[in-house]
Amino acid sequence: MKTCHLYSLFLFTPLLLIFSCLQIFAESENEFIIVDRGKPTATIVVSSSPTPSAVLSALELQYHILRITGAELPIKDDSKPISGRKILVGDNKFSAELGFIGKNLPSQEYIIAFRPKTIVLIGKDWENTEANRHELGRPMSCGSTLEDTRQKIDYWATVGMPERGKYEIELPGVYDDQGTCYATYHFLEHFCGVRWYGPSRTSIIIPKTKTLIVKGTDIRRAPALKYRDALWSGFWPFMQKQWGPVTREEVYLFWRRLKLGGEKWAGNHTFHKQTLENTFFEPEYQAKGVKNTTQLCYSSPVLVEKVVQIAQDFFDGKNNVPYGWKAVGNYFAIVPDDNLKFCQCDRCQELLRSGRKMRTGQFSSGEASNYIFSFINAVAKELHKTHPDKYITALAYWVYALPPEFDIEPNVSVAPCLHTCYYAIHKEMYENDMMLYHEWLKKCKAPIFLWNYYHHPMEAGLIGGFKCFPNIMVHKTADIMRKFINDSVRGIFICGEQDMLEGYVIAKIWDDPSIDVDALLDEFFTLYFGSASEPMKQFYLTIEKIACDPNNYPEPYYKKNGIDWKNVAWTTLGTEQRMETLGSYIAEAEQLASTPEEKLHVYQWRQALWEWMCQGRQEYLKSNPKN
Ligand SMILES: [Zn+2]
Repeated sequence: MKTCHLYSLFLFTPLLLIFSCLQIFAESENEFIIVDRGKPTATIVVSSSPTPSAVLSALELQYHILRITGAELPIKDDSKPISGRKILVGDNKFSAELGFIGKNLPSQEYIIAFRPKTIVLIGKDWENTEANRHELGRPMSCGSTLEDTRQKIDYWATVGMPERGKYEIELPGVYDDQGTCYATYHFLEHFCGVRWYGPSRTSIIIPKTKTLIVKGTDIRRAPALKYRDALWSGFWPFMQKQWGPVTREEVYLFWRRLKLGGEKWAGNHTFHKQTLENTFFEPEYQAKGVKNTTQLCYSSPVLVEKVVQIAQDFFDGKNNVPYGWKAVGNYFAIVPDDNLKFCQCDRCQELLRSGRKMRTGQFSSGEASNYIFSFINAVAKELHKTHPDKYITALAYWVYALPPEFDIEPNVSVAPCLHTCYYAIHKEMYENDMMLYHEWLKKCKAPIFLWNYYHHPMEAGLIGGFKCFPNIMVHKTADIMRKFINDSVRGIFICGEQDMLEGYVIAKIWDDPSIDVDALLDEFFTLYFGSASEPMKQFYLTIEKIACDPNNYPEPYYKKNGIDWKNVAWTTLGTEQRMETLGSYIAEAEQLASTPEEKLHVYQWRQALWEWMCQGRQEYLKSNPKN
């Protein structure tokens, strides 16, 4: 019996057994034959009224096994007896008989269980009931209602097999329970060797074998981080070109495959122009003595009353929050608009004056913390009387990034906004962030969430019309994410898009912070670039080494509260000599790439990163000839 060569490549698939032999073999007790020499030997079983998560899981299993083996496993419901091996997907009659009830599991927990001639893939799923359909909320992404997060796709067209016929399904909402999907994706990844490095078909690694046997012991787990909001769309240059052309529907599937989304949480600016026009137009709420502002009089008791009422109505299911606000699940966000045109009344000004000593000289500061958090506290205190299990979400951001001088109400769930993309290279910003982050950890009794900035330097470049040096810091990112999870942070929202690999590593760490990042990177380069893996790995890690070395950011590019990204990029980062070295890795990779897939992957990475860098340097030298 010869074990397929693929086995040794899948470092994270120790349980995967793929045989390519021709002789008959016996299935040992804890082995399960899914496909035998191109013939399906198991049935995928769902309930006769499956959840959206079970529907997607069954299709994803069928599709990926078809791609791996060429064999199509039938999907049947539990209304009739089924003989032979079964893969039980989600709650159904057969899984219940074995004692597995997905709906009784905690949110996000899932089970993969091996029983004689049976595999169980199950978790708690959102159910398509009228009450669930009517749940109110304004989520962070995908649209303005929870219904918008449940995108509809034509499944077979999305996965590139339109010849199988039209099959429209509704995906489980990004923030809906979908434990069965988690179990299924875990199974496909760790037992069948599939890797979803991106949403496009060319960025998914699917092993090939005619016989697929899996073996293992039961697994019961949940993703470590409960809210995982990095719904990358490929709108930013690196990811876009690394992925290659993608459809929206492929991206929607990709988010589910990486277990992105999770718990219902939201926190972003709530008081803005539209809120003022539609909800707070009466003079009693308005900021005094300042024109054309979107701030309100946050010390006003009637404003507190009004916001408490909106929160109560939301949690009672009476009214959704005003358009543009953020509130989902147990969280109702209160975040002022993004400007400093605060109310000039005596009460507001006194609170603002009390915070003057809390200036840090950094973007994240505290001069308005006493002011803003006294308002948030006032709302939270009232809400607690009627809804003790609900939270007010607050961002700790900009002039109210530091905790206030007073205690924070126990039902205020704070999300510090942290400059994670500077941590490798900017001491002052890192220390300032860590100072306020740890103070919040000490101060908050409610769950802590984070808003992580990954939009520098790319956003500055896109707005300022220059090409930045790729700010790859995958190891530093993995380390800080691990720390956040170990500190019991409950969820993270990512602002901006990194390159596809750093993004992938983030999703994996969020799921399981114990993973070995170097092994994950090795596996990626081996599977993705094959013969060209070594130079591509050197190319990536060399960029990371350059980008993460503080010595490469001397003054005047290094400023106490930031980096001059434009002028540092092609002077002390992408120097002539370093560009020569990086170019030689790309040339070597192009020479070594042998299969069409390897060639395509090298080409895509060349377009995404290397061409970008060459153009960036050329453009810089053209406008700054003396360099
Ligand atoms: Zn005021």
